[in-house]
Amino acid sequence: MTRLSQHQHNHKQHHDTPRNNTEENTRNFSWGKIFSHELLTCSDGELIDQLQSENEHIILARRINRTRDGDTVPTRLIKIKCDMPTHPTHILCLHESYSVGTFIPPPKKCSKCKQYGHWVSDSGGCRRNWRCDRCGGSHDSGHSCEAELHCSSCNQAGHGSNDRDCPKYLKKRDCRIKLRKKCFIPQC
Ligand SMILES: [Zn+2]
Ligand SMILES: [Zn+2]
Ligand SMILES: [Zn+2]
Repeated sequence: MTRLSQHQHNHKQHHDTPRNNTEENTRNFSWGKIFSHELLTCSDGELIDQLQSENEHIILARRINRTRDGDTVPTRLIKIKCDMPTHPTHILCLHESYSVGTFIPPPKKCSKCKQYGHWVSDSGGCRRNWRCDRCGGSHDSGHSCEAELHCSSCNQAGHGSNDRDCPKYLKKRDCRIKLRKKCFIPQC
C-alpha cells in the first residue's frame, strides 16, 4: 500500500466509524438508486413487491417525488435499500438489468420552518414559525395555498421551498456530494 492510499484508507476508516462505538464498524445496509420509466405508474407497495421478487438483497424501495409549483410529481428515480454494506452494481426488474447508482440522501431540512441544517424532530424540536411550502407565509402547508410562490429557504420568489431547482437546495446537495467524496467543506 502506498503512503497516499494508506492515508486515504485511514481517512475513510475515520469517517465511517459510527459515533456509537458499540455498533459494528461496518454498516450492514446501503442505499442505491435506479431510474425506471417502466415502473413510473407503480405504487411503492408494487415497487417493493416487484423488486423483491427478483432480487434477494432489497429490503426497501421508494419512489422519489418532486414538488413543482406546489404539485407533487413522481419521478423515474427509485431509491432502494439493500441488506449489504455495498449495493449491487445491477439489479433485475421485469427481467431487465438496471444499473444501480449510489443514492445520496437529501440535505437535512426542517419540515416546519423549511430551513436547512436541522430536522423538526431534533431534540428540543424547532421553535421557529411554520412556513408554507408554497408561499413561505407563516402557516403550515396542510391546506391548499393559492398565494404567489415564494421560497422561504432562499427567500426568493418564483418557486416554492420544495423546488429542486432552489439555489439553496442545489448548494446544499453539492455539499453532500462532496462530503460523500470525503472532502472537508467547513461551510456545509
Ligand atoms: Zn425548523
Ligand atoms: Zn402559503
Ligand atoms: Zn429557494
